[in-house]
Amino acid sequence: MTAEDREAPIGVAVIGGGPAGLSAGLQLVRANRRIAILDSNRPRHSATLRSHGFLTRDGAPPLELRRLGREEFESYPTAIYAQALTREVVPLSAEEARAVGFPDGIGFRVRGTGIRGAADVEFVARRVLIAAGLTEELPALPMIRAYYGTALHSCVECDGFEKSDEPLALIGETSDVFARALLISRFSSDLIVFTNGADAVLPLQEQQLASIGIRVERRPIDDIVGERAEMTGVRLVDGEVIPRVGGFVRPRWHAPVEFLGDLDIDRDDWGLVAVNDRGETSIRGVYAVGDIVPPGPQQLIIAAGSGARVAAKLNMDMIRGAVGVGQTDH
Ligand SMILES: Cc1cc2nc3c(=O)[nH]c(=O)nc-3n(C[C@H](O)[C@H](O)[C@H](O)COP(=O)(O)OP(=O)(O)OC[C@H]3O[C@@H](n4cnc5c(N)ncnc54)[C@H](O)[C@@H]3O)c2cc1C
Repeated sequence: MTAEDREAPIGVAVIGGGPAGLSAGLQLVRANRRIAILDSNRPRHSATLRSHGFLTRDGAPPLELRRLGREEFESYPTAIYAQALTREVVPLSAEEARAVGFPDGIGFRVRGTGIRGAADVEFVARRVLIAAGLTEELPALPMIRAYYGTALHSCVECDGFEKSDEPLALIGETSDVFARALLISRFSSDLIVFTNGADAVLPLQEQQLASIGIRVERRPIDDIVGERAEMTGVRLVDGEVIPRVGGFVRPRWHAPVEFLGDLDIDRDDWGLVAVNDRGETSIRGVYAVGDIVPPGPQQLIIAAGSGARVAAKLNMDMIRGAVGVGQTDH
């Protein structure tokens, strides 16, 4: 692709090159669209060495999945992949959009800062797809990062199987801890829920957990302890160490959409980006997909699947916009 080609208007600027963004990108280049993916290369799962549950790739390193996905996307002539952190998404006026050839008067200017020596980029796109994943905040314990992705995980469906029958901890300060504990009980009957002093489990829920042998520990945690790389327990602030070899933690998640600046976007109660059943946000022409939309973090295959689904809706939206027949039939 020549430099001139790179500057020509594009169909969709995809923000994020994880499974959701890459899968959407692949579908859209296969629909003969010029597509740019901007990726800052900070996948949430970089803490882990193996990913599980992706059909045909069970156990593959997550970075390998991204590399394969990127190669497939880039094998199409209308694909542009930029290693860049998106800094700004600015809507064009209807006149500006029509002037660059966007028939329905909807368009955006997307700017990104190049990373790892790559050049800064600027695209003019008919639509934007946010596939930026989530950033996560673990409970404030000094050593927790050292065990995250090895002994402690966040996705029960992804890593529960490997923890079968072990003495496990579930560390969480949010109201969904009860449901997570039920899920983990499928893998181990030796589970302690640590709320780290938060009021995260209702008394009735505590009784229900007790009835299946799960204890709730409400005292605040001082730190995770271990020997070398092996986690050995959870130390409470009063000094007691409760032996545990691993388990799950419920991070707090944040949707990284600073690039929208002052543009208002609807969010749900957890701060995730709200979308309608076509994957469009409250900003006309801006879609979102993957972990960043409700119900939040799921799995690689779900992110990839939802990327493909929303890509089809985006493609149809642009076709309908060009013909002037409205977004849907009713
Ligand atoms: C420790 C851990 C282990 C996991 N293990 C598994 C597993 O075994 N199996 C499984 O199925 N799932 C697993 N998951 C979940 C899985 O990783 C996610 O569900 C999936 O990656 C979500 O895909 P996504 O495309 O929405 O987001 P991500 O994969 O997070 O990708 C988002 C991309 O957007 C980029 N980005 C963010 N902001 C910008 C910006 N402003 N400009 C440009 N780029 C941006 C990021 O750098 C990142 O590359 C795990 C998650 C974690 C945290």
